[in-house]
Parts: sequence; C-alpha cells; structure tokens
Amino acid sequence: MTKETWGQVCNALQKTIGRNNYVTWIEPLRLNGLSDGIASFDVPTNFMRDWVSRNYGEQIRQQLIRLGVEVDRVEFTVSAAKPAAEPRRVPIEKVTRSRAKVAARTDDADLPAAPLDTRFTFDSFVVGKPNELAHAAARRVAEGGPVSFNPLFLYGGVGLGKTHLMHAIAHELQARQPQLRVLYLSAEQFMYRFVQALRDKQVMDFKELFRSVDVLMVDDVQFIAGKDSTQEEFFHTFNALVDQNKQIIISADRAPGEIKDLEERIKSRLQCGLVVDLHPTDYELRLGILQQKAEMYRQQYSGLTLANGVLEFLAHRITTNVRVLEGALTRLFAFASLVGREITLDLAQDCLADILRASDRKVTVEEIQRKVAEHYNIRLADMIGPKRARTIARPRQVAMYLSKHMTTRSLPEIGRRFGGRDHTTIMHGIRKVEELKGTDGQLREDLDLLRRLLES
Ligand code: ADP
Ligand code: MG
Repeated sequence: MTKETWGQVCNALQKTIGRNNYVTWIEPLRLNGLSDGIASFDVPTNFMRDWVSRNYGEQIRQQLIRLGVEVDRVEFTVSAAKPAAEPRRVPIEKVTRSRAKVAARTDDADLPAAPLDTRFTFDSFVVGKPNELAHAAARRVAEGGPVSFNPLFLYGGVGLGKTHLMHAIAHELQARQPQLRVLYLSAEQFMYRFVQALRDKQVMDFKELFRSVDVLMVDDVQFIAGKDSTQEEFFHTFNALVDQNKQIIISADRAPGEIKDLEERIKSRLQCGLVVDLHPTDYELRLGILQQKAEMYRQQYSGLTLANGVLEFLAHRITTNVRVLEGALTRLFAFASLVGREITLDLAQDCLADILRASDRKVTVEEIQRKVAEHYNIRLADMIGPKRARTIARPRQVAMYLSKHMTTRSLPEIGRRFGGRDHTTIMHGIRKVEELKGTDGQLREDLDLLRRLLES
C-alpha cells in the first residue's frame, strides 16, 4: 500500500467522520505498512489505540478494501517514538467555531471526551408533552448560570432523546462559554478509562483529570451498576465535583432508585438533584419529529414529493422509539429517490414492511396505568399504592382489566406491577369490572375510550 492510497483513505474518512474527529483520531496515525493482509499503524497513546481501533478500525479497513487494498485486519501499536503522555491537542477555537464534534478541551491533559454529534442540538430537538420537562431542565443547565440543581438526572427508555439532550447541553455551553471544561462521556467509557488507569498505575492522574472539569456529563450510568470499583470511583468523582459546585449531568435508562446493583449511597446522591424523565413519545411529538426530518430531507433530495398522510401514518404506526422512526424515514427517502417515485402510503407500506410489522402496537401495563390515571384524574402512585377509596380503587380495577385484555401478562405479573398485589386481587378487580360493564354505561364508554387511546 502506498502513501497515496492512505492519503485517499484519509480524504474519504474526513468526509464521513467530520473534520474534528479526523483531526483528533486519524491524523495522528502513522502508517507502518501492509504485510500478510495486516495494515499496521502507529498511534501515540494507549487510549488512542483502543479508541481508534474500536471506533474507526473497521471504517479504515473498509475504505482500504474499497481502494483495492487486500486487507484482513487493521492493527494499531503504540509507538515508542512519541511519549505516551503527549496526547493529540485540538485547539478550542477550532472546536467551538466549527460546532465541533469534540466536546472537551483537550489542552493540558488527555481528556477522554467522547465525540459529540453535531446534529444533536437544541434547534433540532422537537419539544412535546412527553419531553418538555427534560427539555426545560436541559435548557436551564445549558445556560451555564449558577448551579441550581446537581446533578441533573435524565432518564427514560431507549431512543427517547437522552443523549441528544446531553449533547445539546454540551454544544450550548461550549458556544456560550468556550473557556468551560465540559466533559461528556458514557459510563462505559468512564469505566474503561478507570480500568486503564488502574492497569497503567495512573489512578492519581485519572482522579485529577476528572476533578478538574467544570461540567461532567455521564451518559447511560446504569452501565456501572454492579461494577464495584468503578462505582466507587464514580462516587468519589461525583462528590468531589459537587463539593466544588461543578455541574453534573447524568442519564440512565431508569430512575436512580430503580437501577439494580447500584449502591444505595450513589442512588441517594443521584436523587439529590433534579430527576426528570422522558416519557414515551405521543402521536403529536412523533409527527413533529417526522415533519422536521422530512423538511430536511426535502432539501436534500429536491424533486421528491411526499404524499399527504404518509407522515401521519408513520407517526401512528411506529410507536417504539424515535430512532426507529427516524430510520424509517431515512430509508423511505433513500428508497424513493433510488426508484424515482413519489413517496406515497403504498410505497411506505412496501418499503417499511419489516419495521411496521415489528412495531405492531404492544401496550404495556405501565402505559395502561398512566392513561387510566390520567383519565380519572388520580395520581399514578395511587394506582400502585394501597388506598382503598372507591375513587381510586375503581380506576385501579379498570387498569387491571385493561392490562389483562390488552397485554399478554399473566395475573401474577400484573399483580407485581400493581405494587406487588396478589393474583387473586387482580382477578377480583377484573371480575368487578366485567360485572359492572353490564350495567354501567359510563364505565363502558370509559373502557372504549381508554382502549382507543391505548391502541392509537
Ligand atoms: P437515547 O439516548 O435516549 O437512547 P437518543 O438521544 O440517542 O436517545 O435519540 C435517538 C434518536 O432520536 C437520535 O437520532 C435523536 O436525535 C432522535 N430524537 C429523540 N428525541 C428527539 C426529539 N425530541 N426531537 C428530535 N429528535 C429526537
Ligand atoms: Mg443514549
């Protein structure tokens, strides 16, 4: 393989991964050569070696293959020539001016910032009922004023926008206050760095590094549950930063109290700040997101037309998560442009058959509880709690009834979701509703309405 070939690979990579990622991760690589189908490169640090091989190794290999180089494997070795302590530096001006993908200042130390996605900004975040609180809290933190709640804990299911919001906060802070040291990384990367520091006997450096940031964001913190020494270190980092009044932002797939194998003291620390959840999307939010995306695509694929009702159809049918929704739209536009046809309902049904099948509506007991509580204007907590007053017990029975009929859960499973009630209690509740249905017109109407709401 020649230097030119590598140069071409570099050009291609620059386009796909963006200038800043390129400067940070690819430029420092030194091509050693190719033998026996192994392309080998020198990298300056251990961290870079692991990061690049994990995140870009395969891309590099694919690009080489594309250019006709026969390569089975890409290898990275830490070169002795450069001291490992000298990391690649990205000047901060470049970072902010170009809305860069590198979050943190990487000057005086090897800050293990994970790349930020330039698309994840507040501008591109569609706000609706399910996420308005999380959005407002994120906005507040992004203003970078005095720390008013610490940590900000965002939680919610997969693909509901946690990472998007965190990146948006980082972008915004970096734009407003370029001097701030904002560090975003996943809990997995935190662990990974910590383990590496342990191995390289550089724990003090690690500690110092993490304690020197102004804003720390750790994504998907549920990952460190059960990983004892990482948890311990996280706890100390967390406390040290809180003591210095530095803002911390955490995300997880569930509420702090519900993360299994997470130490109690960490749970309670996490609950000290502001805990907000991103609810599952509703129809309006999904439609809003689709409209925004479609607008973007319409500019990208000019000439394509989108028939009325297609977005509504998708918002109605794909209820799993936003990532799937976006993926569907992306595919739809790509397909339509390929075959040069208008995007119609028929085309959508054809092209997205697998996604549509997979997201055939599955209602959960939790959703039923929420909708029923909303409908009868009672608190969700009472749905699960012990109160026996009719105004609460009746809606609870309605929710039990719907859970039995609209989900595949068994009675004991439903019981567990109703605050650990016995299956006979659930059975009794269901019977009661069946009995009343015969005589109570209002109840029948309620059930109908709720069913429709839940199926939509
Ligand atoms: P999570 O981290 O909660 O699993 P992500 O933040 O990765 O979810 O979001 C998944 C995808 O959905 C991303 O492409 C993100 O931009 C998009 N997304 C989620 N919520 C919204 C929203 N409210 N507006 C626009 N895009 C969204
Ligand atoms: Mg995420």
